[in-house]
Amino acid sequence: MPERIKILVSACLLGENVRYDGGHKRDLFLNETLGPFVEWIRICPEVDCGLPVPREAMRLVGDPDRPRLVTSRTGIDHTERMECWAKTWLDALSSLDVCGYICKKDSPSSGMERVKVYGGGSGVPARTGVGVFTRMFMERFPRIPVEEEGRLTDPVLREMFIERVFCLRRFRDLLARPLSRGALVDFHTDHKLLLLSHDRRHYEEMGRLVAAAKTVSAGSLFSKYEALFMAALSHKATPKKCSDVLSHMMGYFRKMLSTDEKQEMIEVIDQYRRRLVPLVVPVTLIRHYVRKYDVVYLSRQVFLNPHPVELMLRNHV
Ligand code: SF4
Repeated sequence: MPERIKILVSACLLGENVRYDGGHKRDLFLNETLGPFVEWIRICPEVDCGLPVPREAMRLVGDPDRPRLVTSRTGIDHTERMECWAKTWLDALSSLDVCGYICKKDSPSSGMERVKVYGGGSGVPARTGVGVFTRMFMERFPRIPVEEEGRLTDPVLREMFIERVFCLRRFRDLLARPLSRGALVDFHTDHKLLLLSHDRRHYEEMGRLVAAAKTVSAGSLFSKYEALFMAALSHKATPKKCSDVLSHMMGYFRKMLSTDEKQEMIEVIDQYRRRLVPLVVPVTLIRHYVRKYDVVYLSRQVFLNPHPVELMLRNHV
């Protein structure tokens, strides 16, 4: 059994009763669907930094760029306590090889974006804050994908996040082997069509980096590649870009398919482009021909198999 991918997660989303009011915010998708494929590393910044359950609710106050973490009624400032604990905790986390972080939206400790910040002139809170712990996490590990449970209800954002998590895992597996330029070329080749479905510009820049591999030290090469790889995957894979990739793949079967079969594939790709059927439909058809005609180059393409089918991430239109 390969090791499961480790994902950091806000403990209240797993159903732990750690919220200020003694409750939880158990998330069905995380627990029932994603859970079997990952190993959760749970965290509750407020409880883990020493605050009790139940406790007074907190909020972000002051400078929108660097707000303080303050109790809502009594005004006790817990920023230093949280930052001190988080610094040590994040040091320890470096060795755990976490490939993603799913955090609780709107929380002054755990939120990723648009957390309310109080104290501006108008009296209306600005939706500009980031939870204190999550801000520190993102500053410390800028290449690890982060997402909120609320945004994960959007099927496009959900697919993007999980795809990035699985991609980062594959890249880390590559790093765990002796660093070899040949292995990086293979990795780049296998991810070509996936990268093109996200962002051609990044793909081409990565190609130039790989081509000049001999002129760069291995450490610098792999680090630059990882930065570009994760940046490329943060671009949305639109139906237009994915259809272009699918049409490109179809070119590999031109001589093998009958006129009818080609017409069927063109129609299915077009239906996907027009958002009449989900991506899983043309991908399943292409995978069928890849297997039938044993097209080795395509069978290695991560685009056809970026994450477990059981997650059903490509079943939306
Ligand atoms: S949102 Fe974060 S700090 Fe609040 S209960 Fe959940 S894990 Fe703990």
